[in-house]
Amino acid sequence: LAVNNVTPPSAAGQRPANPTDELFRQQRAELVPAVRRDGIRDVETLRAIGAVRRHEFVPAEYRPYAYENRPIPIGYGQTISQPYIVAFMTEILQLSPGMKVLEVGTGSGYQAAVLAEVGCDVYTVEIFEVLAMQATERLQRLGFDDVTTRHADGRYGWSRHAPYDAVIVTAAGGSIPPALIGQLKVGGRMIIPVGSLYGVQHLILVEKLASDDIRTRSVLPVRFVPMLQGLR
Ligand code: SAH
Repeated sequence: LAVNNVTPPSAAGQRPANPTDELFRQQRAELVPAVRRDGIRDVETLRAIGAVRRHEFVPAEYRPYAYENRPIPIGYGQTISQPYIVAFMTEILQLSPGMKVLEVGTGSGYQAAVLAEVGCDVYTVEIFEVLAMQATERLQRLGFDDVTTRHADGRYGWSRHAPYDAVIVTAAGGSIPPALIGQLKVGGRMIIPVGSLYGVQHLILVEKLASDDIRTRSVLPVRFVPMLQGLR
C-alpha cells in the first residue's frame, strides 16, 4: 500500500512527532476555549494558558488529567490551582510585559510560568524547600529564565526585589499580610485569597492608591490551601 500524501518526518528534516506530546498539544488547545467560556477575555492570558505545558507541572500519574479544568495534587498536601483560577488571577492583575510580579506560593511553578509567559519578571516564594527546588529545576528546564524562586515564608514578601507592580498570593490566610501591601508599588494591584482555612474564602483585589491608602474588593469565592507559617 503506497501512501503518497504523507511526508516521512525524517525526509522533512524534522524530528518524528511524539504521539503523547501531540495529544497534550491538542488538549492544551482545547483548554483555551474552555477557560474563555468561563469568562476569561484577556488575549495575552488566554495565549499563555494555551502555551504553557501544564502536564510538565503535575506528577506523572496525573498527566492524563493535566488539561482538565481542575486542581491537581502536587504532594505535601498542596495543589496546582485550577487553570480557570490561574487565568482569572492573571487577568485581573492587568499585567503588561516587563512588569515585576511577586508570587507567594510557588507550588508547581505553573502560575509563575503563566505570568512569565505574559512577559513579566516573576519573583516567587515557596515555604516547602522540596517544592521550591523542584519548581526551580522545572522552570529552568522549560526555559522560563524570567522566574526567580526562593525558599522562604512569603508572608514577609521578598523585600530585595521590591517594589512590585503586582502581587499574587496562592494560599489563603485570615488577613492580608502588611508586608505584601508595603512591597506593592503605588498604582499596583494584588490578588489574594482571604478567609477561614477550610470554610468560605474570597479572592480579594487590592489596589494601592497611595503609600498609605488601599482599596479592596471581593471578586470571587474560592477554595485555596491554607497559608502556612514556618519553613519546611
Ligand atoms: N501557584 C501554585 C499553587 C500552589 S498551592 C501553582 O501554580 O502550582 C499554594 C502553595 O503555597 C503551596 O505550594 C504551599 O506550600 C505554599 N505556601 C503556603 N504557605 C506559604 C507561605 N507562608 N509562604 C510561601 N509559600 C506558602
